[in-house]
Amino acid sequence: MSPEPCAIRGGHGHPGLIHRFLDRLPFEASDPIVTLQEGSTPLVLAERISERVGAEVFLKIEGANPTGSFKDRGMCCAVTAAKRDGAETVICASTGNTAASAAAYAARGGLGCAVLVPDGKIAAGKLAQALMHGARVIALKGNFDEALELVRELTQRHPIALVNSVNEYRLQGQKTAGIELVEELGTLDALAIPVGNAGNITAYWKGFQEVGHSPRLFGFQAAGAAPLVLGHRVERPETVASAIRIGNPARWEEAMTAMTQSAGRIEAVTDDEILDAYRFLAAEEGVFCEPASAASVAGILKFGVGEAQRVACVLTGHGLKDPQTAMEQSGSVVPCPPELAAVEKAVLG
Ligand SMILES: *Cc1c(COP(=O)(O)O)cnc(C)c1O
Repeated sequence: MSPEPCAIRGGHGHPGLIHRFLDRLPFEASDPIVTLQEGSTPLVLAERISERVGAEVFLKIEGANPTGSFKDRGMCCAVTAAKRDGAETVICASTGNTAASAAAYAARGGLGCAVLVPDGKIAAGKLAQALMHGARVIALKGNFDEALELVRELTQRHPIALVNSVNEYRLQGQKTAGIELVEELGTLDALAIPVGNAGNITAYWKGFQEVGHSPRLFGFQAAGAAPLVLGHRVERPETVASAIRIGNPARWEEAMTAMTQSAGRIEAVTDDEILDAYRFLAAEEGVFCEPASAASVAGILKFGVGEAQRVACVLTGHGLKDPQTAMEQSGSVVPCPPELAAVEKAVLG
C-alpha cells in the first residue's frame, strides 16, 4: 500500500489497486497512475448456493468496480502504461465491458479512445457508458473475433495502444483479484469463473501462483460459444451471455495450461442454466450480476465442486449492464389506479 495518501491522486478511501499492490506490479509511484479506486471488491458468502453445492461458496463481486466490471482492474494498468509510454489514444475490440472500461480510464487519463464492438450485439448499459465517456464507438458488421483481429492489425500501423487482454498490463492488473481472494480467505480450494477470451482465468492463475496458492480452476463457457470445451474454434458464437460470446479466445493456450496445472476443468453451461443461476442469484442471494457472470454459479450448480470445501465464484460484471435481459427474465409490474383499496389489493396480492 502506498505510504502517502497524497499519492492516491484526487481521492480518499481505499487506494486503487496500483497503489495497493505497487510492489507486485510493473509501476513506480512516480508513474502517471490513472485510477478510479478500482479493486478491493466485496466478497460475500452465498448461503443458499453453499447449501445447494455442499461447500462454502463465496461471491467475488467484481460488478462493484467503478465501471461495473472486473475489466477496470486490467484497464487502470493498461491505460497507465499507455500514458506513461506516451500514447495519445487507446483502442480495443470489445463485447462491451472492455469498451466501457477503456473509455472511462481514457477519459480519466486525458487520452483518446476508440472501441470496436460487434454491431447490435452489446448490452445497452455498456454502450451508454462508452458513449458517455466520449469514446469513438465503431459498430463492426462482424463478431468479436473479427474485431480483435482488425484492431491488432490497426495498432501495427498506427501509434495507438491496444488495451485488449493480449496486453500484458491487463493481466497484471487482473491478477490482483486472485491475490485479494487469498488475502481475504487465507485458503480456497477452487475458483469458478466464466471464460470468454480467457484473459481473466489466466490472470487469476498468475495471481494465485505469485502468492503460492493453487486452487482448482473451474472455467465455464456458454454452450454456444465453447471453443475451449470443444477443442476447436467456433465460427458463429451465440449465447445470451454476450460478454463471453467469443469463438477464438486470445489466451487459449495459457488458459488451458492454467487449468491443467491446477487440476481444474473447463465445461459448458447452456443459456437456460446461465439464466436460472442469474435469476437465482438476484432473487435468493440479493446479488444482481450480468448473464455472463452467472455462468460461474451455473457451472458449480451443474457439475458440483468435487472435494472442494471452500469455493469462490467470480461475478465478473454488474446486472445493470444489461437491463434488457433482466426485464425479459423477471416478473412484470402491477398496474394500479391511485386509490387506497386498489393499492391494498395490489400490495397484498
Ligand atoms: C470480459 C468478461 C468476461 C470474460 O473474461 P475473459 O477474460 O474474456 O475470459 C466474463 N464476464 C464479463 C462480465 C466480462 O466482461
